[in-house]
Amino acid sequence: MLDGLDLARPELLSGQSLIDGAWTDCERVIPVINPATGRKIGDVGDCGAHDAERAVAAASRALPGWRAIAPRTRQAALLRWRELILANAEDLARILTAEQGKPLVEARGEIHYAASFLEWFAEEAKRAYGDIIPGHQPDKRLLVLREPVGVVGAITPWNFPAAMITRKVGPALAVGCTMVLKPSELTPYTALALARLAVESALIPPGVFNVVVGEAEPIGAVLTQDPRVRKFSFTGSTAVGKMLGARCMSTVKRVSLELGGNAPFIVFDDADLGQAVEGAIASKFRNTGQTCVCANRLLVQSGVYSAFAEHLAERVSELAVGDGLKGQMDQGPLINEAALRKVERHVEDARAGGASALTGGHALPGEGCFYAPTVLVDVAPDALLCREETFGPVAGLVRFETEAEAIGLANEGTAGLASYLYTRDLDRAFRVTEALRYGMVGVNTGLISTEVAPFGGVRESGLGREGARQGLDDYLDYKLMCLGLAPDPGGRSG
Ligand code: NAP
Repeated sequence: MLDGLDLARPELLSGQSLIDGAWTDCERVIPVINPATGRKIGDVGDCGAHDAERAVAAASRALPGWRAIAPRTRQAALLRWRELILANAEDLARILTAEQGKPLVEARGEIHYAASFLEWFAEEAKRAYGDIIPGHQPDKRLLVLREPVGVVGAITPWNFPAAMITRKVGPALAVGCTMVLKPSELTPYTALALARLAVESALIPPGVFNVVVGEAEPIGAVLTQDPRVRKFSFTGSTAVGKMLGARCMSTVKRVSLELGGNAPFIVFDDADLGQAVEGAIASKFRNTGQTCVCANRLLVQSGVYSAFAEHLAERVSELAVGDGLKGQMDQGPLINEAALRKVERHVEDARAGGASALTGGHALPGEGCFYAPTVLVDVAPDALLCREETFGPVAGLVRFETEAEAIGLANEGTAGLASYLYTRDLDRAFRVTEALRYGMVGVNTGLISTEVAPFGGVRESGLGREGARQGLDDYLDYKLMCLGLAPDPGGRSG
């Protein structure tokens, strides 16, 4: 087995896409690279537009049967799939680490997080309630029904190769939709292993869940423009999401977008510094800084600036960096060379603006795309690091004096996904939370994601919410039944 993968079930590492319940080979292949070593894990089939169309046709055929069955039957299917994921969690985690790079302990956590969405939405399957509204006229009765939107096209990124999938397919299948998924070609093996387990569950019929791996553009064109696809759900960068969302308007699809962030992490003078440092480590350095909710700019009030910076640098310098499959690591590689270059560019730019590194500040020599975990001080608020997602293990610290200044800095830009603040003043916690133009605010915590709470952004960070009861809404349409009653033959009864 390549790269020390050492799987209990080697057949879970397969490069075939799943279309209409059948494993599909392609003429061309895409190599999948382990970012920790730069070596190839294997080749996956490169599906094209034709395969995507076949998958959409299969999802359309499967739709009437799947939506017609009782919610509790769909619930049983999702729960069976979840059981299989948990039973194979170690293999899934190893595949995930091999192709994505996150330390094994984080990969294991992601597999459990991914499974949690199937459990949550299996439960919610029975709760897609409608409404009964008092009639607007004496002979009218108004019923609002909830119905599945239909075939869903979904595109997911490489940074959470399992959880971003189940966060979409869980609610979709729970309410009776069918799906065609295109995972990132950088991390297709995890998606295909999940698909193998869905088939193994024997409760998800052919065509209900299809996974089409391949070059993004042709498959994306089908998922955004085929009229049979009635909803498009995307997680990825803001630029690509805007472009694909706009394409969906040619057939007026329902659109959900989970896009990029630029999270401010505010530490006030009255914060518990130990808690703030641990929160910064959790938020900034999870997945080596490659999450959409990672703290991107750390705004620290002048009274605690030096103490916070020193304490953080000390902790960051202790982080173990390396191949997640080989020993206990805290940090893995960046996903590829381009990501490494972007981090280098951001650090150079910050240095040119007056910043200096308390620890790190350079790429690591040797194989793989590793960058030393870094703390930069005296970062200018207009540095690239503060304006764009760095997506790497670099904590850039900006100094501020007043609460109003911190809110102003935090709200700069167009992103509105996650934000964080640390204070022991309850009034300030509410005041600042209400002033932040973000979809999510972590107060005295750096970890905010759970399947039971609505995840999503405002401004240019997205449309819609995933997880929680709100996560069902994006996969359901409303249908009004306006019932006209015949006149009461006996006059007004009662
Ligand atoms: P990306 O480049 O936008 O890619 C995301 C997905 O879109 C991948 O499957 C990619 O395919 C596909 N794609 C790219 N160009 C496409 C095109 N022209 N047509 C159709 N599909 C296309 O983003 P990424 O670099 O993978 O992911 C990182 C970004 O995702 C960050 O901005 C992060 O903040 C964001 N993100 C947001 C959330 C959230 O919930 N808000 C969660 C996770 C990540 P290939 O990879 O195969 O090219």
